[in-house]
Parts: sequence; C-alpha cells; structure tokens
Amino acid sequence: MPKLIFLNKLSNAKMNVNVKSRALLVLCMILVAFKAAPPKKEFKGLKKVVIDAGHGGHDTGCLGSFSREKDVALAIALKLGEYIQKNFPDVEVIFTRDKDVFIGLDERAKIANSKQADLFICIHANSGSPAAYGSETYVMGQHKSEANLNVAKRENASILLEEDYELKYDGFDPNSPESYIALYLMQSAFLNQSLNFASKVQEQFRKLGRRDRGVKQAGFLVLYKTTMPSVLIETGFLTNKEEEKFLNDKANQEKMAGAIFTAFKEYKNELDKITQAALNEEEKKEHSEKKEGHQNPELYTYSHKENQPEAKQQNSPAKNKESEKGIVFRVQVLSSSNMLEINKKNFKGLEPVYEYMMNGRYKYAVGNETSYEKALKLQEEVKKKGFKDAFLIAFKDGKRISVKEAKELLNED
Ligand SMILES: [Zn+2]
Repeated sequence: MPKLIFLNKLSNAKMNVNVKSRALLVLCMILVAFKAAPPKKEFKGLKKVVIDAGHGGHDTGCLGSFSREKDVALAIALKLGEYIQKNFPDVEVIFTRDKDVFIGLDERAKIANSKQADLFICIHANSGSPAAYGSETYVMGQHKSEANLNVAKRENASILLEEDYELKYDGFDPNSPESYIALYLMQSAFLNQSLNFASKVQEQFRKLGRRDRGVKQAGFLVLYKTTMPSVLIETGFLTNKEEEKFLNDKANQEKMAGAIFTAFKEYKNELDKITQAALNEEEKKEHSEKKEGHQNPELYTYSHKENQPEAKQQNSPAKNKESEKGIVFRVQVLSSSNMLEINKKNFKGLEPVYEYMMNGRYKYAVGNETSYEKALKLQEEVKKKGFKDAFLIAFKDGKRISVKEAKELLNED
C-alpha cells in the first residue's frame, strides 16, 4: 500500500517571507534540484478507451444482402461505450465516430494517440464466401495465412476513399503484399497486452455461442499507427445469411457489445491489479531511499510552516494523523518534480489544496469527499476549471489506496 509521506492542508495564506525562511526555501530548492530524477512512468491503470466503429459516410464497408458493415459496427460500438460508461464512470470513453461520418484510418489512430488512450478497440464485420461464419479478433502482426492477409487488405482498402492517400500513407498500396513487409518490420511494444485482450474477447464470443475463429495477426493500418494495446474485432460475416440476420438484431448487437464489455472488464481488472502492485513496488523503493537518508520530507514540511504561519497548526504531524481517519476521496490536479507555490493562479482558485509526496514527486489534490459520487462531481467541476487530466485518488487513514479499494471498503460498511 503506498504510504503517504506527508499531507498538509495549505491555505492561500499571504507569504510572510523573512530572512530565515528565505534561507530555508533556498535550501529546499537545492535539495529538490539534487534529488534523483522522478520515475517517468506514471502507473495509472486503464483510464481511457477509444472505441472505433469501422468505416462510415461514403465508406460503407462490406455489404450483406440487406445491411452495411458501417451500420452494424456503429450500433455495437455505441452499445459497448454505453456499458463501459455506465459501469466505470471513472473511465473516459472516446468514440472515433458516434454517427455516420467518414473518418480516415490515420485520423482514427491520431485520435487514440493524442488522447493517450490505454486501449483501442476497432469494431468491424467480415465478408467472405456465403458459407464462412464466426467471429475473429486481430492484433497487429505478420499474417500467417493468405486469408488473414485478405481481411487486412479489405479493411485497409478504406484509405483508397481518402483524399491524398498516397501522400498520407507514404505510398502504401493496400493490395500489394510488398507493402505489408515494411509494416511487419516494426514490432509492436504492446503485442502481449493486445493478444491478452483479444483472447478475452474471443472467449466471451465463445460463451455467447458464436463460432470462435480465433485470435489472428495481420497488417492493419489503423492498428499499426496506434501507440497502445489495440485490437480489431471482426464480429461476424455479413455475407453469411444467418450471421447477417444475427448481427442486425438489436438484442444480439447488445449481446455482442456485452461480450466485448465483459472482456474489457476482465482486462481492466488485471491491469489495475498490476498497477497497484507497481505502486507498491515504488513505495518499497521509496522507503529504502528514505532509510538511507536520500529524502527528508520533514524538511519540506517545515518550509511551509515558515512561509505560512496561519497553516502552522494544521501542519503539526499529530494533528494531521487525527484529521486523516477513514476513507477520503480527493481529486488530483497536478504532479510536479518541483514544489509548487500554493496560490490562486497555480490552482485556478481551488482551495484548500492538499500536498503530498509520492515516488519522488509532489502531488497536489483538492477535496475531502467521503462518498464516491460526490468525488465524481467534484472531479467534473475541477475538469471544467481547466484541469482536464484531473483524476480521483483515495486515502484510508492518511494512506494512499486505490479508488477501487476505497469503494469496496465503503460498500462493506
Ligand atoms: Zn471493416
């Protein structure tokens, strides 16, 4: 469990800078400057998912006898997003399209990359001989069969409907096998995670009674350009009579979305557990550093006392411990390797601001909510103030715990 080194309630007190405190501040700044570089990786679990309904607008995707791929894909994508939003309010769901519009393949990947999503899910429907049926999930990688390459060729052919596609895709020809060799030279850093999620999706389709065609690899441009775990789901064949009927039925679309949602839930739980374990590991490291005297958080605390005499009482460690009983949710607004000045400008008028230190970084949070719902509302308000990446954190008796754990503890009461 990550331990809180210190937690100060700081008011917007006027700075009372005398010579002594200024000297102390300089000492602190020197200490901060010599501190080991903070770890670059922020362990945050699964917080953002991009759902990408294939095709759209003048790109209909493949055709069945009475339906179009773009419509089936959008219906399932929207349902999936709805399920995630309903069940995980702290996960941000981003749709590349939520209506019938055309979006280029590179644009879809750009959306996911710029949002720094943690998972990218493309939803499509397949085309083949009338006898072919079943669901399959693709991850980026070298195709093992001609059939897999053909699926990628068909999906990549969407770029032919984009303006200036030769320029945008560096002369990539979706129909030429040579074009795929260059794609395969780049090994995805997220292959294992993508495969993990893909196999969970297929497992759920199997439970739903769909024919499991397996997890496969091929060179999909839309996956190639993303910088996070990503999959492309071929939900079924519109060219198969039975499956076209199945995929166009609203209740079945909900079932398919539900299956992908269950896979998402399992994947997220796994990732959150790993994240928590990583946080624990960081905390252990932090403790050993403390023992060796590399960090002295008491010094930082003291500098606040000197600068802000009004906050003196609240800064005494005994008082802090007393005020930190039970489960508390806060909204983290900023994190910095340097100590920030607590003022209206830095925190856009939010107060009081709580400062604590973890993994060698100063973290700043607001709020003191005892219910998750109230904390979510506060998070929205904080986001509206301009802290777009603000997220929820939780404490138990002054110790940082995961939000999930805090919710579970509250439910037990
Ligand atoms: Zn498609």
